[in-house]
Amino acid sequence: MRLRVFASGSKGNCLAVSSGASSILVDLGLSCRETLARMKACAFDPSRLAGVLFTHDHADHCSGAATFRKRFPSVPFYANGATADAVEARSGVSGGWKLFETASSFDAGGFSVTAFSVPHDAADTVGYLISDGEKNLFVATDFGCVTSSVRDAFSRADAAVLESNHDMALLSGSNRPWSLKQRIAGRSGHLSNDGAADLVRSAASPRLKILLLAHLSEECNASRLALETAKEACSAAGLADIPVEALSQNEPSRLYVF
Ligand SMILES: [Zn+2]
Ligand SMILES: [Zn+2]
Repeated sequence: MRLRVFASGSKGNCLAVSSGASSILVDLGLSCRETLARMKACAFDPSRLAGVLFTHDHADHCSGAATFRKRFPSVPFYANGATADAVEARSGVSGGWKLFETASSFDAGGFSVTAFSVPHDAADTVGYLISDGEKNLFVATDFGCVTSSVRDAFSRADAAVLESNHDMALLSGSNRPWSLKQRIAGRSGHLSNDGAADLVRSAASPRLKILLLAHLSEECNASRLALETAKEACSAAGLADIPVEALSQNEPSRLYVF
């Protein structure tokens, strides 16, 4: 499988997974223009996409959806019913959905995809375990706490895109209003560096070969802190040698092959 992350963070999220001739996206949270510019810079051809999976309806995950639909009307959008309704209401997209039930598996572009529920303050947020039949990619970028379904999916991953949103001390010392701090740190908010590390320690299996830290807060995190915390957790889980990298809001990642 091949993975390219075009953007990760509160200003927009989008990644592409490819296997053989087929590719799918997870989320369209940059403007369509910026998404296409980043794809072009990576020599990624959007016209061969077999679908776009949406995790939830927050703007940083769907704001490019309406324009993308106009440019590529034959590319289906995948979501659960509540997310499809909410993305339509937010972005103006209409129709063209392939709906799935949360906690089920379905085919998208030849991939076997399992959507698992995650606790987050949107309509019906999911994470994904995407499989080409041999390798599994875990993607979960907006969730406040680890549940048994998150742990189960993570334990099957060969590569993982895992939220490592904030450092607790930087969040509590920030100038953000108290209510926003509560929202971010709450059980339906965003996963901290320590939360991500706990998941790695408790659920990573020896098959995990790449750990990518996602949705880092620009104000309440530093990639050095997130990486330090995650690498310690990998060592504790017997995975001291795997690459651990922090994804960027501003530029596409390198191409990961696993
Ligand atoms: Zn987000
Ligand atoms: Zn969100």
